[in-house]
Amino acid sequence: MAFLLQEGRRQVERNAEAEVVAVSALLETRLSGAIQRIQAALEHLAVGLPADACSHATAANFRGSVVRELGFHARQFPEVDSFRILDAQGVLLYASKGRAEGVDFSDRSYFKAFAHGAGNGLFFSEVQTDRLTNRPVLNVAVPVRDEAGGLRALIVAQLDLAYLSSWFESVGVGVNGAVSLRRTEDGGVVLRRPFVSAAANKPVLHNALQEQIEAGVRSGTIRLWAAVDGVERIYGFRRLGDYPFYVTAGRASVDYLADWRHTAWLAAVAGLLLFLALSLVLIRVLRAGGREAATAGRLRESEARYRMLADNSHDVIWTIDIPTRCYTYVSPSVGEMTGYTPEEVVGQPFDARLTPDSATRLAREIDLGLRRIASGDRAGSVLVSEFEQICKDGTQISTEVVSSYLLDADGVARTILGITRNISERKAAERALKESNRQLHARIEEIGRLQVALQELAVRDSLTGLYNRRYLDETLDREVSRARREGNPLSLVMLDIDYFKRVNDTYGHQVGDEVLRTLAATLSADIRAEDVACRYGGEEFLILLPNMPLDVAMLRAEAWRAAVERLSIAHGNFQLTFTISLGVSAYPDHGKTPDDLTRCADQALYQAKHEGRNRVSIHCD
Ligand code: GH3
Ligand code: MG
Ligand code: MG
Repeated sequence: MAFLLQEGRRQVERNAEAEVVAVSALLETRLSGAIQRIQAALEHLAVGLPADACSHATAANFRGSVVRELGFHARQFPEVDSFRILDAQGVLLYASKGRAEGVDFSDRSYFKAFAHGAGNGLFFSEVQTDRLTNRPVLNVAVPVRDEAGGLRALIVAQLDLAYLSSWFESVGVGVNGAVSLRRTEDGGVVLRRPFVSAAANKPVLHNALQEQIEAGVRSGTIRLWAAVDGVERIYGFRRLGDYPFYVTAGRASVDYLADWRHTAWLAAVAGLLLFLALSLVLIRVLRAGGREAATAGRLRESEARYRMLADNSHDVIWTIDIPTRCYTYVSPSVGEMTGYTPEEVVGQPFDARLTPDSATRLAREIDLGLRRIASGDRAGSVLVSEFEQICKDGTQISTEVVSSYLLDADGVARTILGITRNISERKAAERALKESNRQLHARIEEIGRLQVALQELAVRDSLTGLYNRRYLDETLDREVSRARREGNPLSLVMLDIDYFKRVNDTYGHQVGDEVLRTLAATLSADIRAEDVACRYGGEEFLILLPNMPLDVAMLRAEAWRAAVERLSIAHGNFQLTFTISLGVSAYPDHGKTPDDLTRCADQALYQAKHEGRNRVSIHCD
């Protein structure tokens, strides 16, 4: 842009230069042409002026024709204000207009020059204010001489500077442009536009243009700051033929560069705006680039971190592409877990290594999860399940799978990220734990049973299996209390084997024990559930019969007696039989305390023995 602007400026300057050259040439042509013709007119008048017409004494005779001649020429030169003829003393003889004969012009420079000098050529005066018209003029004069060379008359043309300045006005050099007509000898101003009164006739010192003129340069261009007004201009200058003048036409740089400056300013503003916009875009791009780089860096870092976690995890981390349902990534630990390499697994369908049951279940769970996500339930995006997998060597392992649905920006699940953990050992441990739990429960049950048995043993007689006396004492107290409380009857039957000593003595102690066991079994088989049969002493038994009145108890006792009588125990070739004696007491008939009842039953038994044995007795005091 700067180059283009610079080029534009050069072009504008070249144009301005061409313009000032053209204007200066035009002015030079017009001015030198005008002066040439005026010179011809003056010379023509000088040649045609009769010698007698130059004297005041005889002038009246010539006035009519001379003034007519002068007027003729004056009409031909609009740039000439008037033609005049002065006599040898510098007094006006004739004028093309006005009647001012006798006015003395001998003090004027053009008169003095010819009065004292010998020249015959043209003389140009300095700029003067005409004493008759008061207008600024430049007098151009030629002498009329007699044969001896003496001055006879002077013919003067007054160049009307006001008129000439209208020429200067008509040339286009811009608002701040300047046009001037100057003298070659000292650069003194003859005419200038714009008009500066103080500048008239003033010589120019140290001016580069003037120096060129003085050096003999006839035409050219030059750039300088005008001494008169300090404006920078480019000047075209040209000398007026052989006349002692030159014209300058200057265009002010402030004018010819105005458009360019405006354009340059607009271009600079536009350029600046463009630069700012581009800078802004660049900054954004750089920042975005920086952010992108930073994000990419963080992404790489986090990916490396997760990759490290995945690669070093004992669990298998994997991703499944939902549309194809195939593995897209599997961490290396899959080898350790299943024997397959990640390369063997990636690209395979998700259910390839599952047992049929697990595969069906997983497919169902994925469908369910996708349906939940589609319905907006984000909580459904994480699942924990257990699946059975088949390893490369054919073995089966139990795995726990935590899977999560990764959603894209639209909330659509495209990938499942999962972690699979081998829980076979845990499962085995769980199974072992369950088994030992079961065994423990069995033991506890066994111990319970044993405890019950032990408790039984504590209250049972070891030989007969009947309750022992301690148990009877407790039970009798409880049952007597209850009978009293509820007003129910209660009976006691005490019995003793008849002549048992003989059995022992005859068959031995062991056979005696056998007899005891047989008797106990016989009694046990024929009592109610609520009845309590106990071994009361060596071969004495006591049977507690709750809720049983005396008469019924008598019948029961009789029944047992009869049953024992019918017993027959085989011993070798012998059949051993025995009998029992029984005593019965009843609450409240025979007593109201356990002691009274026991004692009463005992006495009844004693009575039965006494009455001959193998019978049932009651004892009443
Ligand atoms: P009675 O008809 O008067 O009762 O005569 P008896 O011989 O049965 O006399 P008694 O009741 O006084 O005899 C008790 C005998 O019972 C004494 C003892 O040798 C025997 N005996 C006691 N306890 C046991 C036992 O546990 N086993 C055996 N084999 N004999 C026992
Ligand atoms: Mg006895
Ligand atoms: Mg006995």
